[in-house]
This record gives sequence, C-alpha cells and structure tokens, in this order.
Amino acid sequence: MKIIDKIISEDKLSAKVLQATDDNFVIETGVFDDGNTCHLCVSCQIGCPISCQMCYNGINKNYHRNLTKQEILDEIGNIIEQFELLKKYDYLCCSFMGVGEPMLNYDNVLAAIQELTERDERIYFALATTLPYSKDIVKLTEDFNNIRQFKLTISLHAPNDKKRKELIPSHSSFEELRKAMNYYKKHSIHKAEFNYVLLKKFNDSDEDFYELLEFLEDDDRLKISSYNPIEGGKFEKATDDRYLRLHRLLDKRNIHNSKFESVGDKIDVGCGQMAAKKLIRR
Ligand code: SF4
Repeated sequence: MKIIDKIISEDKLSAKVLQATDDNFVIETGVFDDGNTCHLCVSCQIGCPISCQMCYNGINKNYHRNLTKQEILDEIGNIIEQFELLKKYDYLCCSFMGVGEPMLNYDNVLAAIQELTERDERIYFALATTLPYSKDIVKLTEDFNNIRQFKLTISLHAPNDKKRKELIPSHSSFEELRKAMNYYKKHSIHKAEFNYVLLKKFNDSDEDFYELLEFLEDDDRLKISSYNPIEGGKFEKATDDRYLRLHRLLDKRNIHNSKFESVGDKIDVGCGQMAAKKLIRR
C-alpha cells in the first residue's frame, strides 16, 4: 500500500488521502484536524457490499474485497508517517467509518486495532456499523472491552423498520438493533450511540421524530448527523430547523444527543462521499 495522492482543503483542516493497494485498487482515507486530536476516517473494504441509498458506495455497488489486516495497518501507518500525526497531535482517533462495513471484515479490523493499541496509547478507536446483529455484538463487546479507548456507533437513520429497509436494503431489523444496543450498554465498558442522518422529507417530519422517540430508551445516546448530498443520489440535506426540532424533543425527554456536522464535504471526504469514484484499476 502506498500513498499516491493527497487533496487538502483550503482551510487545511481536512484532507483526503488516496492509497494504492498492491493489486492496484485505490482506497480513500479522511484526515480531520480537531485541535488537539486528529481524526482518521478509515476504510476497511475496497468498495462496500451494503447498498445504503444515501451513500456513494451504496448506490454505485462497487464492492471488490476486504482489506487485509496488513493493508489496514499500512493505510493508517502511512498517513501517520506522512503527516507526522503523532508528533503534531496529542491524540489520534481512528474511526472505522470510511468505506466498507467493519462487521463484514471483523477479524482484520479487530487485529489491526489490537496491534495499533499496543503500538501507541495515544491512538483510540471508533467503529460504525449498519449491521448490528446481536450475536455479533456479544463477541464485539467482549473483544473491545480489552481495547483502552473505543466507541461504537450503530447507524439507525430511520424511525421504523420500513423506512430503514428502504434506505439500507440489507438491513438488520429494529428488534435486532434494540437487542444489540441493550446488550452492549449492559456489558461494555465503552460508550455507544445511535446515528441518525437527517434526510429532507424522508425522516425529518414530526411524525418521524415521534416514532423515533418511541423507539429510543432514556439512556440511549443519539448523534444527529447532517447529510452531504452525493452525485447521483436522491436525498437532500434537511434544514436546520428540523435539526433544532429533533434536538428539543430529545432534550425534553432527557435523551443525550449531539449534532455532527461532517467537515470535508468540499473535497468529497464527508460522510457517505468517500471512495468509489476514485476506485479504478490503474
Ligand atoms: S454507508 Fe457505509 S455501510 Fe453503507 S454503503 Fe456506505 S460505506 Fe457501506
């Protein structure tokens, strides 16, 4: 794996790094500056087999294969070296939220995380999954209780089963999502949150929000993400007043919530925008 290109934003706070695998695929990684911490948005597959309708990879059906443990280590290691990240920042957060579904490449993702944890205690980790089956979450909980710093994000994105299936055709049911989250909350030493990307006229009405509130439990945490529209996609970003409406309803119920405004959309490295279109044989 070697770096072949870097696209740096005008404000120099985000970058997209392109790396070539030995079999000539190109993968993308996001790099984001957050003051003391640098965040890497790490890819774990070449393309993605999950057909999320709000994601560039999902609508372009571009899956080729899993990255190996060594490739994931190289993806991260090359960027740490090139940008001198561990010299410049106090902490580095490697989030498996780039291209690919980490639960479908679980062993390699876990092995890479275990090795990086040993290498430097300033590196910590996050993983986002769209496919949280409770049986897999039991194993994940046990494995990641041995990792110093970790956060799990479960992508919810819809207020009910029907809409989630429309958005993520190979989805796991709401019943599975609830079982997975509750097991994790009970047995993990780390935090978990649901992620809900606000999509205009799809999941941002009052009716949607009331349905979402019925699903959520008092000790859940919800990250409300703004959407980065993608080329060829059918969804639009919801307006700020819809975010405020959901935020207030959650506050009223005392459900922990936060807003996530993805940076890097100007260089196509915002959530759902990475890879695929650069994924060409060289
Ligand atoms: S959102 Fe994630 S899991 Fe869904 S298609 Fe995109 S890369 Fe795959």
